[in-house]
Amino acid sequence: MHRAPVVAFVAFMFATLYALVVHATPVAAPRPRLQVAALPASIKAPSPADVVAGKLDASFEPQPSTYTRNAVESERWYRLTTDLDWLDKTSPVLSFASVAYIPITVYAPPDYEPQELWFAKLEDTPRFSRHHLAVELPRHWRAGQPVYVRVAADSFTRPVKATLSDMASYQAEDLNHVRLTTMFASVQVTMILAALCLWMVLRDRVLAYFIGYASFQLVYQMLVSGEIYELPGAGLLVPLGTHAPWLFGALSAPLSISFILEFCELRQITPAAARLLGWMRWPYLVFAPLLCFPFAERVHAIASAFNLWFMLSSLWALITVTLAVSRHGRQARFFLIAWMPQVLFTFLRVTQVLAGLDLPRWLEYGFPFTMAFSSIVVTIGLADLSLRARRERDMAHHLADHDALTGVLNRRALVRRLQAAVTDARLQKAPLGLLFLDMDHFKSINDRYGHPVGDACLRAVAEAIGDELRPSDWLGRYGGEEFVVGLPGTSHDNAMAIGERIRARIETLNVHSRGSTLQTTVSLGVACLEGHADTADDLIARADAALYRAKTDGRNRIVAHAPLAAVGG
Ligand code: GH3
Ligand code: MG
Ligand code: MG
Repeated sequence: MHRAPVVAFVAFMFATLYALVVHATPVAAPRPRLQVAALPASIKAPSPADVVAGKLDASFEPQPSTYTRNAVESERWYRLTTDLDWLDKTSPVLSFASVAYIPITVYAPPDYEPQELWFAKLEDTPRFSRHHLAVELPRHWRAGQPVYVRVAADSFTRPVKATLSDMASYQAEDLNHVRLTTMFASVQVTMILAALCLWMVLRDRVLAYFIGYASFQLVYQMLVSGEIYELPGAGLLVPLGTHAPWLFGALSAPLSISFILEFCELRQITPAAARLLGWMRWPYLVFAPLLCFPFAERVHAIASAFNLWFMLSSLWALITVTLAVSRHGRQARFFLIAWMPQVLFTFLRVTQVLAGLDLPRWLEYGFPFTMAFSSIVVTIGLADLSLRARRERDMAHHLADHDALTGVLNRRALVRRLQAAVTDARLQKAPLGLLFLDMDHFKSINDRYGHPVGDACLRAVAEAIGDELRPSDWLGRYGGEEFVVGLPGTSHDNAMAIGERIRARIETLNVHSRGSTLQTTVSLGVACLEGHADTADDLIARADAALYRAKTDGRNRIVAHAPLAAVGG
């Protein structure tokens, strides 16, 4: 693999991500600051009418941050205010980040009607992407005027961050988000389609695994970004709610392991590690239905077990692939390059979640970006795999038609070539000459110098004969030290001349092998295509008969069959 283009390509991809994400970050920050107060958890399920009427205002406790964290056991209430009147030309937008599938209800002035926000909610006229749960507040929102927020319970607690922006910058940022997620999804779709086209022709299992895992991964990513709910038919996924991404993640994982096993040729390179990795697929088939059935409110235990298993099997896959790379697995190296950014981003993301750090913008796009990146590299790897398969097939074809020792056509191929040449000569009414060569006293060369020197002699003679031929002529090894030369479009006299040239050249040939230098000679029989009933076999038989004459006449000479003319040494 060429290193420089790969490095340039990776650098280009990351520069693109940086330009798209960091460069486009809006500069304008909203001036009025959001203040968050929370109702203590001890006040369980208050009536919304009471909260909205301000009856519980005295119980709200100011919070140091703008996080409106949910709770596991019950819903939580927050009271949001600003320190200054809203004076911006466009309306304020209140948005909640990292909410996932937790329903949030906003009660905003002037009427304090409940506005339900939910990640998978289908709307006829959506105003924002599903990046955050967002709601437009009144233009003339005054300082201290409360907005009440109810955050439903979930099996996980999450730091749900409330942010206040102006409509203009919120929309600019939202558009950029849609642009990025669409671009990464399109790259993935394109790679899947490319693999699908290849699969329709090649029917290779490794392609099917790639299509499978990359498609599930794409659906997973679109579920996480929420963009999938904008597609027709996505309403079917809505009842699954938070279970949907789990399900597709659980389906993608075993297919990706099958892909890694096949693509990196792990079963051949690292058999023991590969066997264990293969077994690690099966628990996913148990996880998938468990995660999908919304039978229990609390999927915490199953989801945690799934996460743990995912981490374990990913780690084992990484170890196995690295082992294969150390054993010079070419495909494994491709995969490692494709996969490394994803492992790195996942690691950063897990650290960020565990440490409860704020999510930087570029890290949010890390997964879809590295997913698209790895698909591109893997597709290049698949192309490389087909190229190698083609080379191996070409090599097999070559070996099937060529003699291993001398590299000229073997007997089977030369007979086929002669039959085709006879047909062509008939059709074009063109002459066809044939030379049958046999090396003289070759047995004594073997006896005196040994078989390896005899072999070198055979190779040297084949090479010398080939040097005397035109591109349209062909040369084959008929048996032991016998060669056949086909001369399409060559008359009897010309065939004699070419044969004589070959004889003379070999007579002066010095073969150097294993410290010995030796000379050898050949005898040749010549025959030409005659009459309508003449077959390839007849032609060979006549050339062989002429060769016999050349041998009995004293060797190192050329004899033609029909005109009974002998020339040479
Ligand atoms: P003549 O002039 O009558 O053709 O004598 P010759 O010794 O060449 O005749 P013969 O056909 O009896 O001997 C052919 C020898 O070629 C026998 C065999 O040992 C040798 N031979 C056949 N194939 C190979 C090969 O692949 N390598 C080597 N080194 N020798 C081979
Ligand atoms: Mg011989
Ligand atoms: Mg012979």
